[in-house]
Amino acid sequence: MFNALVLEEAGKNTKASLQRLPESRLTHGDVLVKVDYSTLNYKDALAITGKGKIVRQWPMVPGIDYAGTVLSSDHPDYRIGDEVLLTGWGVGEQYWGGLAEKASARAEWLIPLPAGMSAKRAMAIGTAGFTAMLSLMALERAGINPEQGPVLVTGASGGVGSVAVQLLAKAGYEVHAATGRPQHADWLKQLGAAAIVERAELDGEPGPLESQRWAGAVDTVGGRILARVLSQTRMYGAVAACGLAGGVGLHTTVMPFILRGVSLLGINSVHIPKQQRIQAWERLHNSLPLNFEEQVQVFTLEQSIQAAQDLLNGKLRGRVLIQP
Ligand code: NDP
Repeated sequence: MFNALVLEEAGKNTKASLQRLPESRLTHGDVLVKVDYSTLNYKDALAITGKGKIVRQWPMVPGIDYAGTVLSSDHPDYRIGDEVLLTGWGVGEQYWGGLAEKASARAEWLIPLPAGMSAKRAMAIGTAGFTAMLSLMALERAGINPEQGPVLVTGASGGVGSVAVQLLAKAGYEVHAATGRPQHADWLKQLGAAAIVERAELDGEPGPLESQRWAGAVDTVGGRILARVLSQTRMYGAVAACGLAGGVGLHTTVMPFILRGVSLLGINSVHIPKQQRIQAWERLHNSLPLNFEEQVQVFTLEQSIQAAQDLLNGKLRGRVLIQP
C-alpha cells in the first residue's frame, strides 16, 4: 500500500484527496520507484485545483516530475537501488505522477540522477528549472551572448523565472527581472538580477515596434506581455517562450520579425530526447549554487492541496518541493 494524492472528477470540479492505495494500481510502467521528492509546478496547481484542463484520465495522481529510488525493475537499464529522475512525458496528466509515495515509470522516461546530485536537489530544480535551462540553451543557440545587452525574464518570482534569473546571471548575462510582486525585488537581486522591471510596465497594449530594450528574453507568462516583449526586443534578438501564466493568446504583428529579425523560440520540456535531458541536467547541477536545494519550500502531500491554491494566487515564490 502507498499514500497518494488522488484527483477525481466531480461534475465540473476536481476533487483532490489523500488516499491509501494498493501497489497493484500502478500499472503503466516497468520500473517501480519510491518517490523521495516531487514538486509543485504551475501545471500541477492547475490540475489539483481543476482550474486548467490538465488531467486526461480519471482518477489521476498528479505530479509532472519526481526523483527517487528504484524499488523493482523489469527493464535491463535499471536495478534496485538506482537513483532516478523523471520530468514530463505526460506523467501527472495521462499517467499517474509523482505526488505519491510510489510511482510506476516506463524506463525510457527516466534518467539516472547526475553524479553527486541528491533527489532533493533534482526536484528543487524540477521541471521548472529544466525548462529554464532549455530556455537558456535556446537563446545561446540563437546566438544571444552576454555582450549583446540585457536579457529579460518575465514571471521572475515563479519557479521557472527564478531559476532562469540564476542561470542567466551565472552565464554572465545582465538579467532584468520582471515581476508583479515588488516585495520580491531584493530576493531577485540576490539571485542575480541586475534590475527589476514592474510587470505593469510591460502589461499594456503593445505597439508594433517599441524602443529596443532586450537582447533576449525568457518569457514564462505569454499573452499581452509576450507581445510587448517582442516589440521591445533588439535587432536580431530572441525570445524563448515557455509559459502561459498570463494568458495563452498572442496578438502581435510581424514587425519585430521582419524589421528587426527577432526570433521567437518555442520551449517544450515534455518530450525532449534523453541525451539532451542528460546534458541539460548535468549543466543545471554545475550551474546552480551548492545550497540551492536548501532555499526552497518543502510541503507534505497533504499540504500540496492548499499549496496549489496558493501558487495560483501568487502567495508562493520560487520552487516548491513536495516530500511524500
Ligand atoms: P509559477 O506560478 O511558479 O510562476 C509563474 C509566475 O508568473 C508567477 O510567479 C508570477 O511571477 C507570474 N504571473 C502569474 N500570474 C500572472 C499574470 N496573470 N500575468 C503576468 N504574470 C503572471 O509557475 P512555474 O514557474 O511553474 O511555470 C511558469 C509557466 O511556465 C507556466 O505557464 C507553466 O505552465 C510554464 N511551463 C512550461 C513548460 C514547458 O515545457 N514549456 C515547463 C514548465 C512550466 P511574478 O509574481 O514575479 O510576476
